Amino acid sequence: AVDGGDRGVNAFLHVNTEEALAVAADVDARRARGGSDARELHELAGVPIAVKDLIVTIGQPTTAGSKILEGWMSPYDATVVKKLRAARMPILGKTNLDEFAMGSSTEHSAYGPTRNPWDLDRIPGGSGGGSAAAVAAFEAPLALGTDTGGSIRQPGAVTGTVGVKPTYGAVSRYGAIAMASSLDQIGPVSRTVLDSALLQEVIGGHDPQDSTSLTDPSTGLADAARLGNVKGMKIGIIKELHGEGYQAGVENRFNESLELLRGAGAEIVEVSCPNFGYALGAYYLIMPSEASSNLAKFDGVRFGMRKLPAEGPPTIERVMAATRAAGFGDEVKRRIILGTYALSAGYYDAYYGSAQKVRTLIQRDFAAAFAQVDVLISPTSPTTAFKLGEKLNDPLAMYLNDVATIPANLAGVPGLTLPGGLADEDGLPVGIQLLAPAREDARLYRVGAVLE
Ligand code: GLN
Repeated sequence: AVDGGDRGVNAFLHVNTEEALAVAADVDARRARGGSDARELHELAGVPIAVKDLIVTIGQPTTAGSKILEGWMSPYDATVVKKLRAARMPILGKTNLDEFAMGSSTEHSAYGPTRNPWDLDRIPGGSGGGSAAAVAAFEAPLALGTDTGGSIRQPGAVTGTVGVKPTYGAVSRYGAIAMASSLDQIGPVSRTVLDSALLQEVIGGHDPQDSTSLTDPSTGLADAARLGNVKGMKIGIIKELHGEGYQAGVENRFNESLELLRGAGAEIVEVSCPNFGYALGAYYLIMPSEASSNLAKFDGVRFGMRKLPAEGPPTIERVMAATRAAGFGDEVKRRIILGTYALSAGYYDAYYGSAQKVRTLIQRDFAAAFAQVDVLISPTSPTTAFKLGEKLNDPLAMYLNDVATIPANLAGVPGLTLPGGLADEDGLPVGIQLLAPAREDARLYRVGAVLE
């Protein structure tokens, strides 16, 4: 944990003061010189940014929130980090997360939890609680997160910040330590809709080093945010993603947002996505399956920690077992066991195969909904921030926080969360989620700017 004056929030795992100041000084000097040096500066040049510690950086450690990577230094920069450097954005440091991005509260970090700046006894969401808390606490104006099942959007909701999961493939995943490769996506965290749009323009675009990178990602994001217009747009309330199970104060702010959009000239209709009820179950099979394979590389040989067995000769297998037993936390072990079980011969069709079929049904639900409306809307999270420890020993209760965010990952469509006000019963931030068809990220910014 690095304090650096963050009043116990514990947003950062590493602070990169010297390098960040040097980049900022260089931007100042270029501005002072004027001419082409100043003109060529990007709009966000000199604006500091925090980076989730799942994204690799040269010159700063990357831990993924895990003991198994403690002290490990990446020999290369993630593509998004290269782009931040090219835009001359000072990188403030690396932010805390649930170990390997598995969790909804940041309590599964091996380096202690991050706390919600609105109330230090509450969670900042997860897995990207550090990035969201850094922005909410005014420690950073911008941050990067990763979103596999909601890890940008749910923390955004409970900390009153803006967060975007772009269309799958719109931002390169090269250098984001893989959790579930078919679901992972890097995206912006900010205080305003326009800031996220500007940041997505910096980090987005085709990357030959990511085989799932789109060749024609959406453009005009900042223009859409500046336009902020919903006149004549059709916006769909997802019947399955509000009402029962959602906190009253969340529901109230959600209804207010609908009124606001109606007032601004949008037509609000209700649509049904009947298979969304199965999304959580499908996700918690697909995600651990992919993670169990992605995490096989942490074997005590190639990266980070190496533990010798307590007894017996140090064969490769014993070294692997000792390293993984000591290096991984309980939630990571739980998911590796779930994933390897779901993929094992004899169970594969029943679990992984069924989950993939559900995934197709969810994609069809989205296709049917977007045949009727331009954008979908729901609360981002069923509740406001809960207390630290409240759900730590109940994995199912923890997983339920992701009901509204997971469908977008399963279908690859973009999603944005923005603050919708404070809940009546506890005065804590409520998040409103917008969803658009794949490659239509600009629509999220256009509608989001109206709700801000
Ligand atoms: N909370 C979800 C999970 O635990 C989402 C994680 C994420 O998006 N990285 O899997």
